[in-house]
Amino acid sequence: MRRRRIYEGKAKVLFEGPQPGTIVQYFKDDATAFNNQKRGTITGKGVLNNSISEYLMLRLEAIGVPTHFVRRLNMREQLVREVEIIPIEVVVRNVAAGSISKRLGIEEGTTLPRPILEYYYKKDELGDPMVSEEHIAAFGWASSMDLDDMVPLALRVNDFLTGLFLGVGLRLIDFKLEFGRLWEEDEMRIVLADEISPDSCRLWDVKTNEKMDKDRFRHDLGKVEEAYQEVARRLGVLPDSIPAEGSRPMLVQ
Ligand code: UDP
Repeated sequence: MRRRRIYEGKAKVLFEGPQPGTIVQYFKDDATAFNNQKRGTITGKGVLNNSISEYLMLRLEAIGVPTHFVRRLNMREQLVREVEIIPIEVVVRNVAAGSISKRLGIEEGTTLPRPILEYYYKKDELGDPMVSEEHIAAFGWASSMDLDDMVPLALRVNDFLTGLFLGVGLRLIDFKLEFGRLWEEDEMRIVLADEISPDSCRLWDVKTNEKMDKDRFRHDLGKVEEAYQEVARRLGVLPDSIPAEGSRPMLVQ
C-alpha cells in the first residue's frame, strides 16, 4: 500500500492515516543532537520509543490528560489524531541539567526549588530559541487561552510522570512536551502531541544516578541501546524481539 508521506522529521516520519483526520507516526532509529550537528542511529530506538510513548500516553489519558494518541499499529507505527501543532516546545524541569545548567551556571543534579517551565520556539534554522510568554502572545504562536490549557496540563503531566517513573526506580529530571489543536466540529481542544520517550526526557537511575536517556548518545556515554531497553523493561513494555528498520510491519493483535 502506498501512503502519502506528510513530513519527515529527525526521529519520525508522518504518513497520511487510513481515515481523514488521522496520521501514522513511524518511529525511526535515527538520532540527532546539538541542533543536528551530531547524527547517528540507536538500533531499536524506534521500536522502543513507539512502545514507551504508547504506554505513557495511555496512562495520561487514563487520568484525563487529552492526547493525540489513538492506538499502536505495529512495532514502529502508531495512529494519532491529526492536530495543528503549536510551534512551542514546553520544557518542564525538576532538576538542573543540560541547557539550564549551562545558561545559569547551576550544577547538574541540583534539585530546583520548584518545577520550572520554559518555552522554546520550534524553528530548526534558529536552533529552537528560548522565548517568553510575551513573545508567544505577541507573535501569536499560542493564544493566552491556549497557554491557560497548556501550562496546567504540563504541570499535571510532570506530577504524574514523576510518580510513575519513581515507581520504577527512575528520576524524571526534565522533559519536553508538544501540544496541538484538535478540531472537532467547531470546537477546539488542546491535546498532548508528538511523543514522550527517552528522546524527550532525562531519566536518571534512583540508586546509581546513571543516565538512562538520550544524554548517553549526546555525550558518547556508551550503552545507549541498553538504556532505552532498560527504560522499556522497567515500564513493562519491552518487546521480546526488536525487528530491524525496514522489515515488514507486523500487525498488533
Ligand atoms: N528536549 C527535546 N527536544 C529538543 C530540546 C530538548 O526533547 O529539541 C528535551 C531534552 O531531552 C531534555 C529537556 O527537553 O529532556 C530539556 O533539554 P535542554 O533544554 O536541557 O536541552 P539540551 O541541552 O538537552 O539540548
